[in-house]
Amino acid sequence: MIVAQRKTIPDLLAIVEKHRKLLVLGCGTCVTVCLAGGQREVSIISSALRMAAKLKGLPLEVEEGTIERQCDNVFLEQAADTIKNHDAVLSLGCGAGVQALAERYSGKPVYAGLDTAFIGILEERGVWAEKCAACGACMLHLYGGICPVTRCAKHMLNGPCSGSREDHCEVDSARPCAWQLIYERLKSIGQLDELKKTKPPKNWRPSLAGGCRTIVREDHRV
Ligand code: SF4
Ligand code: SF4
Repeated sequence: MIVAQRKTIPDLLAIVEKHRKLLVLGCGTCVTVCLAGGQREVSIISSALRMAAKLKGLPLEVEEGTIERQCDNVFLEQAADTIKNHDAVLSLGCGAGVQALAERYSGKPVYAGLDTAFIGILEERGVWAEKCAACGACMLHLYGGICPVTRCAKHMLNGPCSGSREDHCEVDSARPCAWQLIYERLKSIGQLDELKKTKPPKNWRPSLAGGCRTIVREDHRV
């Protein structure tokens, strides 16, 4: 899932304080699961903004709403009437959701209420960790399903770097060495021979380094 975290209330107020009628719009998918921008967070952030605005003497009205997915026009359409009735929208969706809203409702200010961080999973209660950097050419089959691009601090495709200490990364001792994990995983699935093959330099063109990406599926176009 896409993992995000909310901006602080003072930061949010500074972004929206020039408006009078604000809609705080949550998203029911990734940001709900990572406890950043779902219905519950919409309610908490809206209440905090109302209080902060009152303390500053600002005439800010804050209304709340949540749709299933902000990155999908079908669901964005469902919020059309509510959005039209407000001066601005504070989106608690990820960066894609914010931009989908802004494209759909031209002329309506749409602001990001979250900082979108990464693609990851819940590792333990209250802890999310990055697992994929969306490099555009997945190589997980070569590494036992553990991503060296994302999880090795030096992004080593032919590791390890020899700096690990007690199976932990020399760059961040709180994190396990990705190459220790790769070794253990390949051993457990009987594919240790993979480590004898030197991997060639990666082509980074399909990654963000090659510019903004699109995927075209001709078989789905009309
Ligand atoms: S190899 Fe690329 S696509 Fe696959 S998990 Fe790692 S960053 Fe993501
Ligand atoms: S210690 Fe392991 S995870 Fe850390 S940079 Fe070196 S190889 Fe990568």
